[in-house]
Amino acid sequence: MRAQDGRCAHPLYALWRAMHQRCTSPLAINYDRYGGRGITVCERWSDFWAFVEDMGPRPEGKTPGGRGLYSLDRIDGALGYSPENCRWATLSEQNSNRRTWLKTHCPHGHEYTEENAWVDKQGKRRCRQCARDRRARLKAED
Ligand SMILES: [Zn+2]
Repeated sequence: MRAQDGRCAHPLYALWRAMHQRCTSPLAINYDRYGGRGITVCERWSDFWAFVEDMGPRPEGKTPGGRGLYSLDRIDGALGYSPENCRWATLSEQNSNRRTWLKTHCPHGHEYTEENAWVDKQGKRRCRQCARDRRARLKAED
């Protein structure tokens, strides 16, 4: 096991701690939006150094207000913190992502059911029915 010494001085330590607190401590600010709604931190990330290894350093950049431009974003807001569901994103990236996830239907009116929706590499939800329609249209034009 690696020594825990020095983790308090690490630039990601406060963020890692806050992530755990809002998921586990009812006293934490925002607990009702995280732990209170069943959002958890994966077991692997109870180890601070595993978290650092999975996420890598936070990309540099500051907002006009002097805060970190990039924050830890859950790609699917319904799921918890894990290497598969987390990325560094700017606030505007997160907001556009969240608006997408709030939608229940694609722009063509197909419902985002579990079978019909899939997530691309950018974390955007896509519609299978539209992809099928597109293929059928291309075929018809041949
Ligand atoms: Zn569609």
